[in-house]
Amino acid sequence: MQVTVSMELHNRVKRIVGLFAVGMLLVPVFSLSSGNRASGLETTKVIYLTFDDGPHPIFTPLLLSLLDENGAKATFFPIGSRLEERWENDDLQDLLNRGHAIGNHSWNHRNLSMEEENEITFQLNQSSAVTEKMTGYRPSCFRAPFGEKNQKVLETASALGMKHIDWTVDPQEWNDTSVEKSMNHIVKRLEDGAIVLLHDRRFLALPILREIFKTFPIAEWSYESLPDCGNGNEKNLRSATRKTGDVPIGKVVDIKKTGSNHTMTGWGYDPDRPEGGLQVLIQEPNNQHLMSIYTDSQHDFTFEITNLEIDGPICLWLKDEGLSRHNAFIGCHNAFK
Ligand SMILES: [Zn+2]
Repeated sequence: MQVTVSMELHNRVKRIVGLFAVGMLLVPVFSLSSGNRASGLETTKVIYLTFDDGPHPIFTPLLLSLLDENGAKATFFPIGSRLEERWENDDLQDLLNRGHAIGNHSWNHRNLSMEEENEITFQLNQSSAVTEKMTGYRPSCFRAPFGEKNQKVLETASALGMKHIDWTVDPQEWNDTSVEKSMNHIVKRLEDGAIVLLHDRRFLALPILREIFKTFPIAEWSYESLPDCGNGNEKNLRSATRKTGDVPIGKVVDIKKTGSNHTMTGWGYDPDRPEGGLQVLIQEPNNQHLMSIYTDSQHDFTFEITNLEIDGPICLWLKDEGLSRHNAFIGCHNAFK
């Protein structure tokens, strides 16, 4: 496996970011179980956006685009039966590719605190089984429908390997409120580490999210997926679900700040190139320039970002080596000074 040569951008101008592939020169040392940091700035305040009750055929893709425009990561709690009926494996893999996390929100949105243990187990187990079939692993977190939980619910979930995730900010967009009212509530309640409850089945979640990004800008706030919803073995488990001809999957796992540089690490796997050497396409913000690096034999990639003077996220794709259906998008990511 050869080391990818470093690449200088053509027509370098002052604002341009320098991206250097360091390939196998750096041993990947990232933690797969940690939440996906949207920014390399350690002191940045964190917001955990969560979206319940999806997937919705129109609003969920729109929300995913809006999150990527801002390099933001979130956690989704889809309803199991809806997930099975509305999404293919590739749709859920795409959500994970972009750096988001997935949780369990029951099979068909029962109030679990009113149910017997059998039914609670069915509701949680059936939903996790759908996620596992699509992604190779079961969620490690859940959110009880309506937030209604008791000891029995928590214990049943715990036996299935799941921790409950509450919220700290509920803008009530499910209740046909206005964007203004929701924002008033958010501004009052939002602090470092806040968990915001939104619903991807509601159109109103979109304008509210747009306002959140305006009020809590990405240069100051880091939007991350919930660390409790990650899976330490995600790369291997997800890769095992792929078969010949499938589009690649992958993820940017970490963005580390070292001095004035950032190191971005991740992985990409295409079953049609099992030996590695998969092309990773990198697009810097506000520039058409596309650069590429390659994964190593362990399907990992690393590159350095220097001369950081950027005002938008860096977006990445994995080149499809199979039937050339399409390249896999692995999200847009922030790396600010
Ligand atoms: Zn719900």
